[in-house]
Amino acid sequence: EKITDKIKALPKDATYFSLEFFPPKTPAGLQNLHARLERMAKGLRPLFVNVTWGAGGSTATKSLELASLCQSHGLTTVLHLTCTNMSKSILDDALENAKLMGIRNVLALRGDEPRQHEYLDVTEQVRNGNGDDEFVYAIDLVRYIRKQYGEYFSIGVAAYPEGYAESAYPVAQDTARDLPYLREKTAAGADFIMTQFFYDIDAYLSFEKLLRNDESGVFRDIPIIPGLMPVQSYQIFRRTTKLCSVAVPAAISQRLESVKADDEMVKEYGIQILTEMIEKVKSANETSGGLPRGFHFYTLNLEKAVAFIVERCHLIPEIPTADEVAVVDEDDEGPG
Ligand code: FAD
Repeated sequence: EKITDKIKALPKDATYFSLEFFPPKTPAGLQNLHARLERMAKGLRPLFVNVTWGAGGSTATKSLELASLCQSHGLTTVLHLTCTNMSKSILDDALENAKLMGIRNVLALRGDEPRQHEYLDVTEQVRNGNGDDEFVYAIDLVRYIRKQYGEYFSIGVAAYPEGYAESAYPVAQDTARDLPYLREKTAAGADFIMTQFFYDIDAYLSFEKLLRNDESGVFRDIPIIPGLMPVQSYQIFRRTTKLCSVAVPAAISQRLESVKADDEMVKEYGIQILTEMIEKVKSANETSGGLPRGFHFYTLNLEKAVAFIVERCHLIPEIPTADEVAVVDEDDEGPG
């Protein structure tokens, strides 16, 4: 099922959320995630789940395996795909397999640069790495999927509320510089936008406003789904914000810093921080685009923090939708 259809089917004042998982490296890891997925599917009922893709296709088989597992749990799946530094056959296989599995949603990404290409011109790096001019930016993937598959897939694209940061090619983050490219990428056939995670809620809401008011109109009523990273531990929080060049407002930094030696308190403050952020986004009606409000969680494959947050923010749907009921029925009638 397309997530855009599921979003459209919700009442305008509804909220929804999605969970992101990455493919575990080992069979034991996958086994663990399997049990967790089952609990989260039943207990939390996300509108959809995302499965990440290793840049260059490094996790192709494992990503498809995890996507298939998600589908088998009746979860609507969004498969991430990158397009640079990767042979086109991997991409074609992934799209074909996704279609065979009944997946209708793809997040079309460029993918990060390999580190050895540091400080070369960005376009050159990608061209060198791929040996193919067809895929340089995410827009090329959006166009390719539309050309090959028409409207079969609902296509999402990534956006950066604080401006895009390139670790291999450091320049100041600037949403105004990214805007024309995001506009072009969206106009090329994107159906929804998912953002990088953030903790600066004002920066996020300004970004949303920038998009909604953009005179091109391409962002007027497209789902913009904010990315949120629950605080799993003080170390992980520090590492991920630094790695992704995500700003930490002083108030949040001080709160976490004050309890950094106490893991339980860090988690509790983290839940409070995320809850406050979600409530602020929920009440920002002028930039909702008249759409139900959605929230995307970077789970890092962990269950507890997300479970507390969606519970506390009343994001768990109370009644299963007709589709979820239908999936349960099919399972009951299926063999074995
Ligand atoms: P693009 O849209 O191509 O943009 C990259 C940069 O190039 C931006 O600064 C943009 O403004 C600029 N640009 C675009 N077009 C042009 C142009 N024509 N000329 C000049 N500059 C241009 N990575 C993974 O490997 N696997 C994942 O599963 C994954 N999931 C992600 C999920 C989300 C929600 C997000 C936000 C990111 C994810 N990433 C993932 C990271 C992503 O692949 C990297 O951030 C990558 O470096 C950029 O991807 P993009 O699709 O945003 O690129």
